[in-house]
Parts: sequence; C-alpha cells; structure tokens
Amino acid sequence: MTYDIIIVGAGPVGLSFARSLANTGLKIALVEKQSSEQLAAPEFDGRDIALTHLSVHLLKELGIWERFEPDDRPPIKAARVLDGTSPYCLKFDSEEDSIDALGFIVSNHVIRKALFDEVRTFDNVEIHSNLAVTSVSTDSSKACVVLSDGQIMEARLVVAADSRFSETRRMVGIPASMHDFGRVCIVCRMEHQRPHEGIAFECFHYGRTLAVLPLTSHRSSIVVTAPMDHRDAIMEMDDAQFGCDIRDRFNSRYGDMKLTTKRFAYPLVGVHASKFYAMRFALIGDAAVGMHPVTAHGYNLGLSGQDILAKEIITAAAQEGDIGATSLLERYQRQHMKATKPMFHGTNEIVKFFTDDRVLAKLARQVALRLANRIPLVKQIITSKLM
Ligand SMILES: Cc1cc2nc3c(=O)[nH]c(=O)nc-3n(C[C@H](O)[C@H](O)[C@H](O)COP(=O)(O)OP(=O)(O)OC[C@H]3O[C@@H](n4cnc5c(N)ncnc54)[C@H](O)[C@@H]3O)c2cc1C
Repeated sequence: MTYDIIIVGAGPVGLSFARSLANTGLKIALVEKQSSEQLAAPEFDGRDIALTHLSVHLLKELGIWERFEPDDRPPIKAARVLDGTSPYCLKFDSEEDSIDALGFIVSNHVIRKALFDEVRTFDNVEIHSNLAVTSVSTDSSKACVVLSDGQIMEARLVVAADSRFSETRRMVGIPASMHDFGRVCIVCRMEHQRPHEGIAFECFHYGRTLAVLPLTSHRSSIVVTAPMDHRDAIMEMDDAQFGCDIRDRFNSRYGDMKLTTKRFAYPLVGVHASKFYAMRFALIGDAAVGMHPVTAHGYNLGLSGQDILAKEIITAAAQEGDIGATSLLERYQRQHMKATKPMFHGTNEIVKFFTDDRVLAKLARQVALRLANRIPLVKQIITSKLM
C-alpha cells in the first residue's frame, strides 16, 4: 500500500485534485467514507453552486465542464442585492459589462458525479471507498495513514480534503479559527409562475436572508439563512405553507412558488486553518478554508487552491524533485492564503454588516448600496469578485 499521494476525502475538491494529477502517472490513493454507489450516483443535497469564470476555466481544463448538460449549468445574467424592506437594489448586469454571464450555477451532486466519472477512468488513481482515515503520522521521508479497516498506507504526501470539520487536520495538530454564526442555511429548489430571466437575488431581510438563484426558466434554487432557533419552524412547515412564505418574502415577484425538492439544513460555521501544511501533509478545500456561503466562494476557492498545489506537484514531478517537500508546500500556502484570507474575513464582515439590525447599521446599508451603484470603480471591484 505505497503511493505517491494519498488524498483524504472524495468530495468535490478531493476529486478535482485527483483529476488535476491524474495525467502525471503519479500513483494516487483517494480514501472516502462514502460507498462507491454514493460516489457514482450522488444524491441532490440542496446545494446549487455558483461558479466563477475562473472555476469554469479550470473545470474545462480538467475535462469536466463538457460533462455537464447545458440545462445543468444555467448562467447568472444579472444579480440584485436588496436590504430590509426597501425596494431599492444594487444591480449587476452582465450585458452592461458586455459579458455572457456573471457566473454559472451547477448543482453540487452534478459536479461530484462528473468528477467521479472522469477520475475513475485513470488506472493510476485508486479509489478506496467505505473507508475513513483514522490516523495520520508523518516524518521527513514519508507519511503514513491508518484506515478504519486497519490497513496501513504510505505515501510521499498526504492531502486532506475531508471537509471544514477535517479530522485529519486535527490529527496533525494544525489549529483553525472557527466562527459559529449561530445561523442555519436552508436550501431547496422551487418552481414559480413567472420566469426569472437569469437574475439572482440576495435579499438581506431583517433577521432572515433570502437568496434566489436562477436555474432553468421557471425554476430557482432557494437559500434561506435564519437564526438557528428558527430552523425547526422552517423545516417543519408543510410544503404549501413554505411555498406561500417564500412567495410573500419575495414580494410575489415570480408569482406562486412551489417546492420541487426536499429542504436541506446546513449549520453555518466558517473555518480558516492557521496553516495549510505540515510535514508531508497539506490541506485543500473546506479543510483549509470553509466559507460562509453568502459570497458563494467555498468550492471556487477550493478549486483554485487545489490547482495551485497540483501545479507545484506537477512541476516537481517533471524535474524528479520531492513532491512532498516543505518548500513546495510553503509556496502553495503563500499563494493560496493570499486569496483566502481577504475573502474569508471580507465575507464574515459582510455577514456582520448585513445582519446587524441596529438603526444606524440599517441606514449605513442603504447608503452603501446607493454608493456602490453610483461609483463605477466600486461596482467593478464587486463584479470582479463575484465573477
Ligand atoms: C448551502 C451551501 C451553499 C453553497 N454554495 C456555494 C456556492 O454557491 N459556490 C461555492 O463555491 N461554494 C458553495 N458552497 C461551499 C461548497 O459546497 C464547499 O466549499 C465544497 O463542498 C467543499 O468541498 P470539499 O471537497 O472541500 O469538502 P466536502 O464537500 O465537505 O467533502 C469532504 C469529503 O470528505 C469525506 N471525509 C470526511 N472525513 C473523512 C475521513 N476521515 N476519511 C475519509 N473521508 C472523509 C466526506 O465523506 C466528504 O465526501 C456552499 C455550501 C453550502 C453549505
């Protein structure tokens, strides 16, 4: 059981990383708790992922984008941000910027399936499903992991992509700062009477946030963010009640709204690891940075981070260098932290600003939306971050 690289976790980022390295001939083991059936046919989990242009470019490079049916990757043509009960909105329009779309939406289970179908075509990538990593140890020459069935694997590098609550991050002693927002994100899909015309909405209502992301013309992905103690009341509403509640909160903009899927609840905890590597060990994806979903950057950052690490490894392998060298991991950390730190802290500040229900904060938000609409440079910066 000796490999070049062991990847812990076959979520979207672990699979993306395996695919990024699949052409190198490096011997890779991918260890995942879920069964091979779950990996081959992942179920809808409520998460519709807004992808930036960089992510689309990376997914094209990996041969994944072409695997999505056109209906499975609808564009976001425009976006609107509203605050409180005011009808005033901050507007972003792709047409104004002469671009096709601000971004694209692909469901998490569709991304996972496409990646799995692609990765399993490579003989040098072994997928060990139904197994968890229960311990990790490393020294200057190798890394060693123990699996839940007692098997031992060795490699030159272990890469953890095992979620924001990463157990392997803890096993190697990398600290992480965690912020529990005390809120829950409830996601589902709904059908509505009127078309959405490709417009995404982020409505920061007082106490509760409603995001509506456009899928095919009369269907949208709905994201409700509410205090944790509202969770049961929202989850236990019957489907008709929930439909009326969302329609009313959305000011009947799309007419009647009807649930087409189950509702899924995700507690909101943001996580940023203080380091992205240890000896012969690296963190990628949510294990490195788990974002609040409001700015829709979790997978986008995970994808760009794994790309940085993969490219460092590909260069080292081509020069017959050490693919687990500390200097290589240090370069990965330096580049990835530059992107993640401002995004993580900026997102948390946005959440704080838009969930502050004091009078002055409400006023400040109305002023901020108007300024952002009127100052082209500010709008350009926000649009480029969105994209
Ligand atoms: C409601 C919601 C909406 C979101 N919207 C967006 C969006 O619009 N845009 C965006 O970019 N991101 C979004 N995200 C974030 C995105 O879903 C995550 O960033 C992404 O799923 C992270 O992928 P990952 O592979 O790092 O981790 P995960 O998806 O958490 O996968 C981790 C994998 O590791 C496995 N695992 C865990 N522990 C072990 C172990 N010990 N041994 C073996 N296997 C293990 C798990 O079974 C799992 O398969 C959203 C998230 C939520 C909750």
